[in-house]
Amino acid sequence: MTSMKKDKMILKIIVLGASNVGKTSIMKRYTEGTFSSERKASVGTDFMRKTITLNDAEVELQIWDTAGSERFHAGTLGNSFYRNAHGCLLVYDVTSANSMSQLSKWKEEVLEKLGDDNFIPIVVVANKIDIQNEDSPDTSEVLTWCKENFYGHIETSVKDNIGVAAAMNAITALAIETIRNQNMKRDSNEVS
Ligand code: GDP
Ligand code: MG
Repeated sequence: MTSMKKDKMILKIIVLGASNVGKTSIMKRYTEGTFSSERKASVGTDFMRKTITLNDAEVELQIWDTAGSERFHAGTLGNSFYRNAHGCLLVYDVTSANSMSQLSKWKEEVLEKLGDDNFIPIVVVANKIDIQNEDSPDTSEVLTWCKENFYGHIETSVKDNIGVAAAMNAITALAIETIRNQNMKRDSNEVS
């Protein structure tokens, strides 16, 4: 479903990735401007909202959190989490090799849950760059994987407020472009 109120577009963005990579933190930083170093239990709410203006268009973002259920395995997220999503942020932690190795599993999960007819753009988010040091795992494989899949890759530090808005703007712009392309395709199919 493409939710279009008169001028305001409503976009559902889902935030996925391993537990502890900073998904909830990214959403809170973006919607509330806050950061906490404490690990809090899941927020309980389904999504957080933020209305932005992008290229003169008003867009309401509904950013969906896994609410902690990802800590078991990818398959635990219900269909309603994925349903009608317009874009996905796929988050990993640059200090956690485990979170990197989970990326392809999450990608498969997104493709499977949405089905072939519901393509959505994915942007990969490399979080916690503020604590990157010599011991951190090599990210080159992730970069190659992103190139192969045509996924954007954006580095963030929620703590230092680096890149979070850029990541959200990127997925929003791609989601809008995808919707426009799908509408154009549908319109031309109707004509022919
Ligand atoms: P989630 O399980 O993916 O939702 O992860 P959370 O948002 O709960 O964050 C997990 C932990 O990582 C928390 O202690 C956060 O404070 C911390 N964290 C999140 N983002 C950053 C970051 O950019 N830098 C640092 N140093 N810590 C972060
Ligand atoms: Mg969380």
